[in-house]
Amino acid sequence: MFQSRRPGSDPDALLECGVMRLGLALGAAPRAAFRRYQDEILRWSERSSLTGFRDPARIVTEGFLDSLACLSLVPPAARRVVDIGSGAGFPALPMAIVRRDLRFTLVEASRRKSSFLRHICRLLALDDVRVLRARAEAAAVETEHAGAYDLAMARAVAHPGLQAELAEPFLRRGGVFLAQVGSSCPTSELLSRLPPDRLALVAECPLPEFLGGPGRRLILLRRL
Ligand code: SAM
Repeated sequence: MFQSRRPGSDPDALLECGVMRLGLALGAAPRAAFRRYQDEILRWSERSSLTGFRDPARIVTEGFLDSLACLSLVPPAARRVVDIGSGAGFPALPMAIVRRDLRFTLVEASRRKSSFLRHICRLLALDDVRVLRARAEAAAVETEHAGAYDLAMARAVAHPGLQAELAEPFLRRGGVFLAQVGSSCPTSELLSRLPPDRLALVAECPLPEFLGGPGRRLILLRRL
């Protein structure tokens, strides 16, 4: 997914520098939260992998910063957010650390990963994050979740077209699906896979090159 990296960087400096490049600023409490989160990913990964990346610099860049880049397209009125297939918490948990006003639901099928997500939420006192151990297809038809969200996200769960299909039933009318898409998926191909009467493209913006190289971008689709 990522083609450009800055190997050997100190993770704290990398986070600080990356956050500035994204036009954000972190106070002391979020900085400490990211450090604890990183330590817990490394500790839990000693037994078996939680993410495809284990070294601190990659956790910061491919986990934290790549997730924080999504904040630029969160609609101002959004409150309820669902993240499908969160894995070790990306993109939802870095966003939750910074945006305490958003209410997140994380839908994760794996028992071990959902246990990890609950552990992190307790540790970091992320009280407005709820973790569901479920498949998205099953959760999306429950009354509590169907059509209940302002924003849906899914990173690296399936082809972007399939991710949009998984996300759509969670969205209220007018709600949006935010996808991080690589150069291997042209927007025209993504749109050709979507039902045109259900989802429409509203915005597309390139991600900075340090987050995956040329062609990687954010795409925002609105539920009609
Ligand atoms: N989004 C995270 C990231 O970008 O690092 C994790 C990506 S990981 C490759 C895909 C995750 O999606 C796995 O943790 C898997 O258990 C979960 N997953 C796959 N299909 C799912 C589904 N239908 N419902 C819920 N979780 C799913």
